[in-house]
Amino acid sequence: MTENIDRFGRKITYLRISVTDRCNFRCIYCMPASGVRWRPHSEILRYEEIIRVVRAAATLGIKKVRLTGGEPLVREGIIDLVGDLSNIAGIDEITLTTNGSLLRRYARELAHAGLKRVNISLDTLRPDRFRRITRRGSLEDTLTGIHAAQEAGLVPIKLNAVVMRGINDDEVPDLAELARDGFQVRFIEWMPIGKSNEDFASRFVAADEVRSRIEEALGPLEPLREEGPARVYRLPGVSGEDGQIGFISTFSSPFCATCNRIRLTADGKLRPCLLSPIEIDVKKPLRSGASDEEIVALIASSIERKPLSHGVANDAPRDRQMSQIGG
Ligand code: SAM
Ligand code: SF4
Repeated sequence: MTENIDRFGRKITYLRISVTDRCNFRCIYCMPASGVRWRPHSEILRYEEIIRVVRAAATLGIKKVRLTGGEPLVREGIIDLVGDLSNIAGIDEITLTTNGSLLRRYARELAHAGLKRVNISLDTLRPDRFRRITRRGSLEDTLTGIHAAQEAGLVPIKLNAVVMRGINDDEVPDLAELARDGFQVRFIEWMPIGKSNEDFASRFVAADEVRSRIEEALGPLEPLREEGPARVYRLPGVSGEDGQIGFISTFSSPFCATCNRIRLTADGKLRPCLLSPIEIDVKKPLRSGASDEEIVALIASSIERKPLSHGVANDAPRDRQMSQIGG
């Protein structure tokens, strides 16, 4: 059965799953400094529940699953989850988005369990800034984690940077240069989600400005392709697969027309769009004896209700942090 075409003709093949709202960092654009209240374990989907949802989604034509959070690697048993998901018929690819801090410990096991690739957040190459942005992380741990992911073959690695004026915008060319070493470096526009955005207006940097700053420093970028939400370019003087830079302009120029994804929040809500408030509860049905057909129907209805586009400014969720929805 394939019922994954939405009302606007978009083929939905990609499910992003937040496996936890918890995190060992408190990035300034993602979480408040303190007072974050984690949801109790009982409210978070159990692994067997996630597996049921993914099995059901696969029958509708979902082929790719990305695990995210919060920080997915802080949840115990994540390796087994990767292994179980990678055995589901129809799921071609399991990937993971992480802050990298625990990859040194887990990269190899994740690869053995069937994980294909990782996206790693890296907003700065300066240890003091890393601390300031993440409020508790260590640059060294994340760099070691990136290296461990390379060694484990979780490649090509995408490095995600959120650019903020006056905080890390002067490092844009330095971060872009990492693309020469085989990483795809992706610059993500800061989105005003949750309560961590008081200085959003003064700190926001649009993707076009980021691109101009790279071009001023490093020369003209060659447009390559659109890849999901990213517009991908290549640094001058680089050939082959190296030198790729992606821009994700969720705020200034949304990519809704080509969006192919739905999300599952850590507390069991299907979310057809990151920035629209529509949520469909799947946890309660899972816990009150719903049949597989009923779970499939809920996923189909979240595809059906996927909005054509989002108006970030109006729709961006204030009641949920990015870490709760799953970035
Ligand atoms: N903890 C993991 C990490 O940091 O990669 C996975 C979860 S995090 C929520 C996923 C991605 O969302 C990261 O690349 C992070 O930079 C991005 N992110 C978080 N809050 C954001 C915001 N308000 N605007 C734009 N991107 C954001
Ligand atoms: Fe944690 Fe990722 Fe959010 Fe940073 S961006 S606080 S690492 S969930």
